[in-house]
Order: sequence, then structure tokens, then C-alpha cells
Amino acid sequence: MFDLHCHSHCSDGALSPTALVERAAARGLKVLALSDHDSVAGLAEARAAASQHGVQLIPAVEISVAWQALEIHVVGLDIDPDEPSFAAGLAAQQARRWRRAEAMADKLARDGVADVLPTLKARFPHAAPTRSHVAQLLVERGLVRDQERAFARYIGRKGSAYVAAEWCTLMEGVGWIRAAGGIPVLAHPGRYGLSGSALGRLLDDFVAAGGQAMELSYPQLYPKEAQRMAKLARQRGLWSSQGSDFHSPSQSWTELGKMPPQPPEVVTVWQAQPDRFVTAEAPNLLNRSSQESVVMAPDAQT
Ligand code: AMP
Ligand code: MN
Ligand code: MN
Ligand code: MN
Repeated sequence: MFDLHCHSHCSDGALSPTALVERAAARGLKVLALSDHDSVAGLAEARAAASQHGVQLIPAVEISVAWQALEIHVVGLDIDPDEPSFAAGLAAQQARRWRRAEAMADKLARDGVADVLPTLKARFPHAAPTRSHVAQLLVERGLVRDQERAFARYIGRKGSAYVAAEWCTLMEGVGWIRAAGGIPVLAHPGRYGLSGSALGRLLDDFVAAGGQAMELSYPQLYPKEAQRMAKLARQRGLWSSQGSDFHSPSQSWTELGKMPPQPPEVVTVWQAQPDRFVTAEAPNLLNRSSQESVVMAPDAQT
């Protein structure tokens, strides 16, 4: 019933916010968070579509942050997109995305790939550029067979047109989300290649910055790893979130609402903060027992 992480064409998703919400409704989802990369441009349209389809739309974002030379993703759930410091932070992130796209375009031009920047603007008019857009363009021009190869040959860490990103810090990204009244969620914690102890250090810094939750259910997170991570979450009073990270119907391995069950003994964000997730359209999402399990609020410790 809850999918709290997905993308529209306002970042690197394929669908418009309206089409995304319609797909969620058709799949029986009750609560959907739209979390575009460093953008809230799709939220107004998504909210309008959601109110027509009986879906509760949680305004969200996925911010790319730097932590110890790694790129970490932080989802902000239930943010006020108009809060000034948050809006200024996202504007800075979008400017970084355009500068990076320009630098990638320069390198690609040297490799004989011309006009990348104008093509990006024309082909993806709703979004600040991600590398996924550049990869799509390289595929569409027939230069590589698929996006994976576009990353390997051109724009990934070892590619000829790689440009390192200069994201905001973990402290800044989490701070903007808190300033906007949102819940900071560490996205897909298994995708950073961290050992258990390194993930523990990341989580300690995340909590110190104001982080409140981590995703413990998403595609490709297997039960054993989820249980190990759930222990790290419990030790720090972190709640659990979940999301498909859906980008496109053409990626057969992801779908809205498709993710493994939550590991046992976690407090989900909707259990911890039921007021945020229950609306007039969907008043009976939570049963009493889940509401009674609100015992580990990080707020109570700070
Ligand atoms: P960016 O935030 O601009 O660095 O772009 C990263 C986005 O590119 C991610 O959110 C993924 O959607 C996509 N991506 C990253 N690595 C790969 C890869 N190896 N193959 C395909 N897509 C990727
Ligand atoms: Mn993406
Ligand atoms: Mn991500
Ligand atoms: Mn994502």
C-alpha cells in the first residue's frame, strides 16, 4: 500500500507525475511519495492527480549528498517544498547538475559526441540533468547498446567523460529536509558498497545530522541483509521506510509498489508518524496495534 520512493520525468523517470500517480492507483497503492532527484517540480501535478485517484501523495525529494568521498542519497518525506532554506538548497543542487552536465558535454564533444547540452534541454525539458539522461541520449544516438554500457564507456567513474559531482554535504542535505519539516530517510543503504562498520559510521553521522529513518525494504535488498541493517537501525532509534525506486515501465525489474516485506521488529515511518500518512481519503490505513508500537521516536532523544 505504501511506495515511498519513485521518480517522474521531473528527474530521470520516464512518466509524467500524472501518469505515475495513475499507474500507482491502478496497482492499488494508497500512499505514494514522489521523490525526484534534487527536484520538487513534479509535486503540484502529482498532488492534483492523486486527489482525483484516491491516492495520498506524500511530497518528497531524493537529495544527492557527499559523505567521505562517497555519494549518498537521502530521501526527504513529507517536506514543505516552499520552505526558503530547503528551496535555496535544491536550487544550488540543480545548478550543480547543470554545471556537471556542461562539463560532461565538453568531454563528450572531445570524444566526437556533439551538442549534448542542447539535446538534453530539448529531450528532457522538465528535469535538471542526471547522468541517466546523458546515458539515454548516448543510447538513442546508437553510440552504446544500453545505459549500463554508457556508464561503463563514457560517464561512469572509469568512463572517458566522467565528471565527479560536487554535492552538498550530508549535514546540509539532511538539514534542509528537517528545515522543510520532512523526515530524512537514508535511501537504499545496501547500494553504497559499505561494510557493516562503515555503514554504522554513516548511520551515526546521519543521526547526528538529524536523520530519522532508513529504507529497509526495496528491490534487491535480501532478507538477511535487511535483518542485519534493521539491527543497526534499532540501535540508533531509526525508523524504517520502503520504496520501489521506480523509474520507468521499460525497466522490467522495477515496478511501483513492488518491494520485499519489511524486516521484523522495525518501526515504520507510517507507524511512527501516523498523522503524516493518514488522510481523509485513506483514514483506515493503520490498525491500532501498529499505532501502539510507536516507541522509538528519535525525536524523544534529542
Ligand atoms: P546522477 O545523480 O546524475 O549521478 O545520476 C545517477 C542516476 O543514474 C541514478 O539515479 C540512476 O538512475 C542512474 N545510474 C547510475 N549508475 C547507473 C548504471 N551503471 N547504469 C544505469 N543507470 C545508472
Ligand atoms: Mn535515478
Ligand atoms: Mn538513489
Ligand atoms: Mn531514487
